[in-house]
Amino acid sequence: MKLDAISHRARNAKILATLGPASSDADTIRALFDAGVDVFRFNFSHGTHEDHRKRYELVRQIEREVNRPVGILMDLQGPKLRLGVIEGGRLAVKRGDVLTLDLDPAPGTAERLPMPHPPIFEAVKPGDDLLIDDGKVRLKVLHGDAQSARVEVCNDGVLSDRKGVNVPGALLALSAMTDKDRADLAFGLELGVDWVALSFVQRAEDIEEIKALVAGRAWVMAKLEKPAAIESLEAIVEASDAVMVARGDLGVEKPPEDVPILQKRIIRVCREVGKPVVVATQMLESMIASPVPTRAEVSDVAGAIYDGVDAVMLSAESASGQYPVQAVTMMDRILRATEQDPMQRVTMQAVQSAREVTARDAISAAIRTIAETLPVAATVAYTSSGATALRVAHERPRTPILSMTPNLSVARRLTLVWGVHSTQSPDVRSSDEIVHHASQAVRRHGFGEPGKAVLIAAGTPFGVSGTTNLLRVTWLDGSV
Ligand code: PGA
Ligand code: MN
Repeated sequence: MKLDAISHRARNAKILATLGPASSDADTIRALFDAGVDVFRFNFSHGTHEDHRKRYELVRQIEREVNRPVGILMDLQGPKLRLGVIEGGRLAVKRGDVLTLDLDPAPGTAERLPMPHPPIFEAVKPGDDLLIDDGKVRLKVLHGDAQSARVEVCNDGVLSDRKGVNVPGALLALSAMTDKDRADLAFGLELGVDWVALSFVQRAEDIEEIKALVAGRAWVMAKLEKPAAIESLEAIVEASDAVMVARGDLGVEKPPEDVPILQKRIIRVCREVGKPVVVATQMLESMIASPVPTRAEVSDVAGAIYDGVDAVMLSAESASGQYPVQAVTMMDRILRATEQDPMQRVTMQAVQSAREVTARDAISAAIRTIAETLPVAATVAYTSSGATALRVAHERPRTPILSMTPNLSVARRLTLVWGVHSTQSPDVRSSDEIVHHASQAVRRHGFGEPGKAVLIAAGTPFGVSGTTNLLRVTWLDGSV
């Protein structure tokens, strides 16, 4: 189906898809959007600024064609640790081998390897593990000092140039952003991205640091992929605008059997306080090379929906796989089917959202109750900062949420949020104008027939954030 401004997707949960070599031409990006992508992810661990600029322009072109906001999330690589280079490019190691890691940039040998990250040596203790190349080779620290460490190889394998290193046991004194991240961030904000995700967040201060740089130009998402982040989970969720369960690296730093438990815990904490939460990585992994997913993958995606997440994400499936559009189509089908199950609402609502002592939260709670009482066509949330739409969505009400904001950037950010059909609207000045615009928009966007109610949440004075104080019930009578 070709979507435009007036059609809405027949589901509440959203789809985030990564663009990459398999999906960077105009036709493929358009096909991905039509298949169901709500937010496009640009992965700054790969590609040049020029690649990202082209993608940016193509997405914005589609946005103009369909005349509705489309979200763009830039994903910063963060302080990813890497081995230095090795003589000949690789080194086969055997279980029981002992070698030294140090700061010397000279190419590595069978005796020593370059590890150009002083914070590792400052933090590790005997017995800690260093995981190389997504955990394919495990090194155990025997002893060390501030510049080097003796390590024992725990399994046979091959080390090669610049492979990733994970240090699960330690809180590393790394700054939240590398020089590359700072340059990428400046570039992305200049382009006009709507969301910025930061990788390898360890503490709430990491988020505060990036937020100071972003200065309100985008919303900031914390990628939870380190044990240290889990230890400060509540504080990080509080500091962030949204959270990603980054299961790829999380499953390297933690044993795989811990990942589902952590996923559910992160979702619960986010849902309680109303921060959007995204589940990412390997959701339809087999579709990188196959047009159909495994049953286990389908069940994994559905499981996230039963838990009431805001969005699910595709990585290599859409960025570099052979079936990017089919992967999105499949995800869309799973989301719609799961949401049809009456049990989905029951399991989603097993988590009770915490209400703040604000008029906005009281109104959001009332909307949920009204939607269980009256036949509601849609709820219109007038929002200038986006907060009203977020707080209404937080209640997971039985009504579509049509958000209206004059701020295009806010409209784009809200495309990630559960249940929100995001639109940009003209400024309104009076409650009569609001009622008129809202009823019209509900009809125009295909949400309602005559006889159904429209709920309107707004704040006066209009256009000032944090003023939500008005809840209106009006009926579609066919005249608007
Ligand atoms: P990445 O993050 O794809 O940027 O590594 C997600 C993850 O680790 O799961
Ligand atoms: Mn990661």
